[in-house]
Amino acid sequence: MTRPARDPHDTGRHDWTCKREGVRSCKVRDFDWRCASCYFVTMPTYPLLFEPLFFAKVWGGRALEHLGKPLPARENIGESWELADLASTSSGGAGGGAARSIIANGPLQGRTLNDAVAIWKTDLLGATPATPSGCFPLLVKFLDARENLSVQVHPSPAYARTHTGAHLKTESWYILHAEPGAVIYKGIRPGVSRDAFATHARANSPDIVKDMIALPAIPGECHNLPSGTVHALGAGVLVAEVQTPSDTTFRLYDWGRTGRELHTEPALECSDFSPAPAAARLGAGQSSATLVTTEFYTINELSLRAGESHTVAGSGLRPVVIIMLSGGARLESPSGMTSLMLGSTCLVPANLSAGSRVIAESAARLLVVPVGG
Ligand SMILES: [Zn+2]
Repeated sequence: MTRPARDPHDTGRHDWTCKREGVRSCKVRDFDWRCASCYFVTMPTYPLLFEPLFFAKVWGGRALEHLGKPLPARENIGESWELADLASTSSGGAGGGAARSIIANGPLQGRTLNDAVAIWKTDLLGATPATPSGCFPLLVKFLDARENLSVQVHPSPAYARTHTGAHLKTESWYILHAEPGAVIYKGIRPGVSRDAFATHARANSPDIVKDMIALPAIPGECHNLPSGTVHALGAGVLVAEVQTPSDTTFRLYDWGRTGRELHTEPALECSDFSPAPAAARLGAGQSSATLVTTEFYTINELSLRAGESHTVAGSGLRPVVIIMLSGGARLESPSGMTSLMLGSTCLVPANLSAGSRVIAESAARLLVVPVGG
């Protein structure tokens, strides 16, 4: 493709002539796409912020308002998708619909994260591959479980290999808040046989809950749930969730609620009976630690005092996602300064990650997530 030359008669920053199409183009708001693609090829990367996507859920509540989220009135919001680029609904199980984050800042404001992937390519992704459908390979959500979420499992690696349309979903929960006595369910108790578990599942019996490991939900702890781990978020827990971008979910038990489909047989086929990884957390007095390492992403936590700074620790080869859990900070990158407000998620393009650092403006806690293996 021929890159457009700057027209010397143009005064506006966004005025270009598209050599390929021979058209004079364009104000950012009224370009046609092909010219826009030429124009955008020349646009330098910058850290992206996003509009949240809210999802009402039977188990949701209003607690996401504490993270500064402008929730729609009178709805129980279970999920706020902070960074999402899902092309389509999964073909099996209880998948959600297609969902793409809208960019909230800079010249790409109003366009989708998927547009940024298409425009910036390896400048954004570095050596990390996009998904097979050309999407950004990470999904970030906040979840507010006012009630128990369904007991569920995502495809095991063996299942995903043999079922096209079923995608692995490894997810990690960072617990932000928990009501007294709140628990999460993570994995199947040692000693529970496959037969007993399957009998409870097929009978839609509450006994399945006793088959699972219930762990106290402790703010600051981070749990990794490899795809195939049977799990449920318990009532009264608020989490930040980092996951691979799939929404293939097989529901095993819905706590006696009716109206939502169960997917007992594929769920049983996927259920992993080996122990799930232990929780991790920042040690007392530590300001940074790696909490989770997977082949898809790494989760680091930073706890900074006001005025303290920390590098984003990018190699320049991978994009880095920053999730603000408390306090406020600013990001200084080679492209300038970006404000990081409570509850916001920022995508630092790979080609800016090595030269970027976070400076806390008040006591701040954040997750720094390099994307890729
Ligand atoms: Zn799940």
